[in-house]
Amino acid sequence: MLLNRKGQGNLWFGADYTINLYRGCHFGCIYCDSRSECYRIEAFDTVRLKETVFTELEQEMRIKRRKGVISIGAMSDSYNRMESSQGATRHLLELADRYGFGIQITTKSASILDDLEILKRIAVHSPVCIAVTITTFDEADRQWIEPYSSSTQERFRALEALKKAGIYAGITMMPLIACLNDSQANLTAIARQGISTGIDFIYPYPGVTMRDRQRDYFMSKIQVHRPDLIKVYRQYGDRYEWLIREPKRRMQELKALLDPQGITMSMPVIIARYKTSRSNRQESLF
Ligand code: SF4
Repeated sequence: MLLNRKGQGNLWFGADYTINLYRGCHFGCIYCDSRSECYRIEAFDTVRLKETVFTELEQEMRIKRRKGVISIGAMSDSYNRMESSQGATRHLLELADRYGFGIQITTKSASILDDLEILKRIAVHSPVCIAVTITTFDEADRQWIEPYSSSTQERFRALEALKKAGIYAGITMMPLIACLNDSQANLTAIARQGISTGIDFIYPYPGVTMRDRQRDYFMSKIQVHRPDLIKVYRQYGDRYEWLIREPKRRMQELKALLDPQGITMSMPVIIARYKTSRSNRQESLF
């Protein structure tokens, strides 16, 4: 079974189903939660295709009585390096178009534009919402924090193209990590360029969760690139949630920038807007 059913009121973009087409991810984000032991993904940086994607997915989607939105990109970026040769994400999108499902994708790759035409086709009949994750405006920092992903500016260009194509799209600004990317200057720079790009939302999380193997990997990279921060992060010990400095204040400053532009930071509002944007567009056609 590839499609996992989510309960009603699921707060992650209100998705009805989630799916992971690949195991592992090569983007190398130093904070990646999917490295945690509980997911049991060995050799995480080696991407593997789930064997049944091309043999069973169509049957699963065809017989689903309840259609709804499928969310992808949680455990492995949907536009990882295998996608150009394997095309599993493209296959899912084609099936979503054929069988009437909506799509929600979270990605750090500008390669999502390879599927722009099919996303436009799905958006005619079902909800589509694209979240491009942007955590670090400074490109030098981005290169070691998320080393094999698209650059920050490539991601903004992808957002611009998505918006021009009429797709509901915005930024997932997560995780935010104390002393690394939680400065007001970083948040403001991302928000300002987001505003000029015409995005619909920014969904931030003012912290990061850390577990076992994930924490070890993170600390090993901090040791190499920012040894001055080792002491700061040791203070969190085994704590699961590492909040940023002054999280309330940072979120209020962000909201003050976005509110006047009508850009929401609220997940319930994002869900309500993208799930109705298709019908709104159809109404405007007639
Ligand atoms: S893109 Fe996502 S899944 Fe891939 S390494 Fe980064 S955080 Fe992990």
